[in-house]
Amino acid sequence: MEQNFNTVRASVDGKETTDNAIEDVLKTSTDRAVRQAHYLASKQVGVAVATDVVALAKLRNEAARKLGFRDFFAMQLALNEQDETWLLALWDELDRLTAEPFRAAKARIDTVLGARLGIKPDEMMPHDYSNRFFQEAPNLTTQDFDKPLADKDIAREVARFYRSIGIDADPILARSDLFERPGKYPHAFCTDIDRQGDVRALMNIKPNQSWLDTSLHELGHGVYSYYVKRDLPYFLRGEAHIFATEAVAMMFGRLAESAAFFQTMGWIDEATATAWGPAMDEKLRSQELIFSRWCQVMLRFEKGLYANPDQDLDALWWGLVERYQGLRRPANVPKGAWAAKIHLASVPVYYHNYQLGALLASQLEAALSVQVLGGKPYEPAALVGNARVGAFFKERVFAPGASLPWQEFVKQATGHELSPKAFAARFVK
Ligand SMILES: [Zn+2]
Repeated sequence: MEQNFNTVRASVDGKETTDNAIEDVLKTSTDRAVRQAHYLASKQVGVAVATDVVALAKLRNEAARKLGFRDFFAMQLALNEQDETWLLALWDELDRLTAEPFRAAKARIDTVLGARLGIKPDEMMPHDYSNRFFQEAPNLTTQDFDKPLADKDIAREVARFYRSIGIDADPILARSDLFERPGKYPHAFCTDIDRQGDVRALMNIKPNQSWLDTSLHELGHGVYSYYVKRDLPYFLRGEAHIFATEAVAMMFGRLAESAAFFQTMGWIDEATATAWGPAMDEKLRSQELIFSRWCQVMLRFEKGLYANPDQDLDALWWGLVERYQGLRRPANVPKGAWAAKIHLASVPVYYHNYQLGALLASQLEAALSVQVLGGKPYEPAALVGNARVGAFFKERVFAPGASLPWQEFVKQATGHELSPKAFAARFVK
């Protein structure tokens, strides 16, 4: 199945294409027929693997049941120390919180993108959005946020930012593989080699906003690993929880969506920052709302998949997509299109940790505002050059490693239990 994901190349009109080319068409093309052809092509891999994913889900259930669990979904949550009732209640609460602001954000997206495509907002179909799964926010302006970064050494700039808050990312960059090469893995990740300071990132940095976000994100994972107390026992010498390291990475990644941060770093002048500020804020906010709704689909689909792998999974998938993302099921989309989301096969019952990470990221921002910024509202630009930010992370967040249950870690680091409160205060208006 993994082989299929690596080798099945989508084809349009009999011609092979790539993921990047598909994303490019969805971001830029105004030809709806071309868009639809590429969208449908992106589902071909799902068709190729869907039967195997179902068979694998059954095997996973069988293994989980042998160990006394209801199904694989229940086992994964138990192994991640996440209570299922709590998690599902949290998802219901997030649904209530995000439903209306998401509807409004999507209405604006439908209007702007619809106008670009020459259609009415209510004619928008899944292939009309700028991402295959509608998990990302489009840029609704004509402003080019990549432009000021085009001549920058992103890795050096990101290291300069971390240094300014008293965090040394240089040892990580020195051991990392940062740029594109033929045949190289095209995505990005960070890994802790020995839990004694040998931390490395793999990236394919280009001087644009998306890679600025990714570089801040991956080095966020990196500095977390790097600054875990080295005298902890090996098995505790890691992050407090997988969603805790995601939270740190996401909080720093969000800086890439702040015009004031761009200005403070010296990349744009004040007039540009004033002009770009509202649009960049809106993009980040709709990004968080869109991703939250997407996480609703993922968790609920996986719960259903493991509860009954023999049910009509296409109906389950498109029902959830319609209910939580507000998208219509295309008449000609093939059966098994849902399986094109690789996480369902290769990182099962994991995706909800991104949403939990987003909640904790907001909680970290709120804690910074109280403990470092003297009670002023959180402002990304205020982090730059403030060594107390680094001290907060090193002492309160990184040092304890996995020595505390995650619930206690969150309370100790942020002063509050994990909840959607801070996330809602920032992104739900
Ligand atoms: Zn990450």
